Amino acid sequence: MTQKIARYLADHQPATPCLVFDVDRAEENFRALQHALPVARIYYAVKANPAAPVLERLVRLGSFFDAASIEEIEACLAAGARAEAISFGNTIKKASAIARAHAHGVGMYAFDSAEELEKLARHAPGAAVYCRIMVANAGADWPLSRKFGTTVERARELMLQARELGLDPMGLSFHVGSQQTSTASYEAAIAKVAILFTDLRDAGVKLRMMNLGGGFPTRYRDEVPGIGAFAAAIGAALARAFGNALPDIVVEPGRFIVGDAGVVASEVVLVSQRDPADPVRWVYLDIGRFGGLAETEGEAIKYRIATPHDGTAAGPVSIAGPTCDGADILYEKSNYRLPLALTAGDRVELRATGAYVTTYASQGFNGFAPLKEHYI
Ligand SMILES: *Cc1c(COP(=O)(O)O)cnc(C)c1O
Repeated sequence: MTQKIARYLADHQPATPCLVFDVDRAEENFRALQHALPVARIYYAVKANPAAPVLERLVRLGSFFDAASIEEIEACLAAGARAEAISFGNTIKKASAIARAHAHGVGMYAFDSAEELEKLARHAPGAAVYCRIMVANAGADWPLSRKFGTTVERARELMLQARELGLDPMGLSFHVGSQQTSTASYEAAIAKVAILFTDLRDAGVKLRMMNLGGGFPTRYRDEVPGIGAFAAAIGAALARAFGNALPDIVVEPGRFIVGDAGVVASEVVLVSQRDPADPVRWVYLDIGRFGGLAETEGEAIKYRIATPHDGTAAGPVSIAGPTCDGADILYEKSNYRLPLALTAGDRVELRATGAYVTTYASQGFNGFAPLKEHYI
């Protein structure tokens, strides 16, 4: 947690639950990635945290943007981004959204199917397009499963078809899954996708861009490799695949930029020893699955939780949210331990909650208001 956030929480004691977000930390993360991977152009994945203060700061830093919807595109434009600096990176787009993005002058478009390609040709004639290839997501705590991407063989056909449809087949992309903790996943994906650069050049289509997607991890409960380790693995894989003839390299970090820039302040609603024979206490917070902590599904993302009693004797806990829904359990199997002194009314902090939290909050389920946000 940054000193700025600690001071804000101490001085303001904001009503909980709320997110306090240090925009300077997002800038530091952006600069760290830029420094580690200078060959890459950074397209911030807007969905990780689309708040205006974040987008405006990134515009000032010269960031590009990966947007998933026309609403995200227009949020970037409102924050001052140039349309050419925006990629419409969702492979699933409404025709009306494509047409509106094209009218704005949005720079490039993702696809992974013939059907989407035809939509692009009709509603964004002549646009620069890139094909998303499915790669292994092993090592990712929040994998993207089978929903996106196509095979290398199919991508080859689709890129040739893109040219026939009058589009500009500019490059290829992949995404190794979010909160990816294995540097080898990028190496394998780069090697796999690079083959198609040669293959398509032989077929008369000269690609000029490889998009490595996002996935760079934030530190939650467990340690993760630093950005330098990812950059070294990626640099070596690119050198092996392309030598000196590197295409334009794009990365689309979301979580890495904003994850550790935010802290959720929460209040303990109840601590109960539900079974006197069971040492596991149930701790209910005023934020849960529906308050924005959607990534606790399957206990995939394990947030660090700080309490006022840290350093004193602790015991095992299950941790849940405040709603009347049985799915609103954050952690039951991940061996969380919290201080025995923890009690209702205590304020706790969920660390590194700047990514994928505010926008996952429900609109008043059980009457609970959406998460409040403070950008400082
Ligand atoms: C979600 C997403 C990202 C960002 O992923 P992170 O793991 O947050 O870095 C990047 N690219 C695409 C296409 C995505 O869907």
